[in-house]
Amino acid sequence: MKNFVDKGKGQCGAQGCDNKAVTYTGKYNIKGRTVHCVKHHMNKISGRIDSANFNRDQYIEHLRLPTAFLGITFKDEYIKVKKINDFFVEQGTIEKSLTKRELIRRTMQCFEADHINGNHKDNRKINIQCLTKSEHKFKTDVCGDSIGWR
Ligand SMILES: [Zn+2]
Repeated sequence: MKNFVDKGKGQCGAQGCDNKAVTYTGKYNIKGRTVHCVKHHMNKISGRIDSANFNRDQYIEHLRLPTAFLGITFKDEYIKVKKINDFFVEQGTIEKSLTKRELIRRTMQCFEADHINGNHKDNRKINIQCLTKSEHKFKTDVCGDSIGWR
């Protein structure tokens, strides 16, 4: 916790967060908005949220795993992402393995928030479920929920 210093910046800049903003002084290069609380700094440091695209990605933190249809877990997808990484390392397409943080980031991109009733303006927690990209695509195209999904 010594890497987080209270410099009196007020409230966390994340939507709906009432925590006190702190300044991160640690070794990781965290881009993007810096007026965040400890929890939101930690989300960026862990890779769960892309710090360079914080505003685009912050809904990811609300995703609850496993997924609603097939019960896919974070670990299920992490194993696949790691295999893809290892494949490209072996092929020589990429020089070296991604870092753990980058792999976590890639894994989180496998999941999406789905509006259960199809109304993408209805952002009540009870109306949002977590799906993989393939589960989501199936629901949207086959089950006729194409009026929006965010
Ligand atoms: Zn916060």
